[in-house]
Amino acid sequence: MSTKEGIVKYQCEYTPGPALPVAQISELNAWRKLMVISGLIGQDANRYGGYGFGNISRRLDDIDLADRLHPFVITGTQTGDKADLSPNDYVVVTACYPAENRLVAAGPVAPSSESLTHGAVYALDSHILWVVHAHSPEIWHNAAALGVPMTADVPYGTPEMAAEVRRLFVESDLAQKRIFGMAGHEDGVVTYGATAEAAGFAMLTYLVRALQLQERKS
Ligand SMILES: [Zn+2]
Repeated sequence: MSTKEGIVKYQCEYTPGPALPVAQISELNAWRKLMVISGLIGQDANRYGGYGFGNISRRLDDIDLADRLHPFVITGTQTGDKADLSPNDYVVVTACYPAENRLVAAGPVAPSSESLTHGAVYALDSHILWVVHAHSPEIWHNAAALGVPMTADVPYGTPEMAAEVRRLFVESDLAQKRIFGMAGHEDGVVTYGATAEAAGFAMLTYLVRALQLQERKS
């Protein structure tokens, strides 16, 4: 089963609020730009019914709370068509409850429909500070050959997806590889890390490996 991007399934308690300072989103924005250039994040009339795809987030570790709510900054919903984003395109998810399919957010734009998946990744380990969700047919279709752990075929942005991410973290080599694919979400791939470089280069490294595999097949 594949699901279309851009359909908000979870319950989002969103409150409009001010944008974050540029300094807090500049690194996010630079990495997003690279992902857009690489075709890993964006919007294309010929892909996924024309919905925006992919998103990037970072934890606000300076306000990491003891209650493990893991506040993080993420791109706003349906920003995929914009080549360049401004602080007005980012929003803070202040609390995320993957098991309840619910999150709380505040900022100038409502959060991406895949914030719950990002929240589920942050909940794995307090050292995870960056998450990239991209759409790569190259990586996704070659996941087995690349050794990329895959979730079961469950829809994204659901408690089932959050549970699958947790299962992979415990049962597969996800913790070492920091990449997984989403079987129920066409071309959906997630990487993460303690730094933007760790998360971003993990995605690019696997894309390059996938392109080499395709080269050999053709
Ligand atoms: Zn997606």
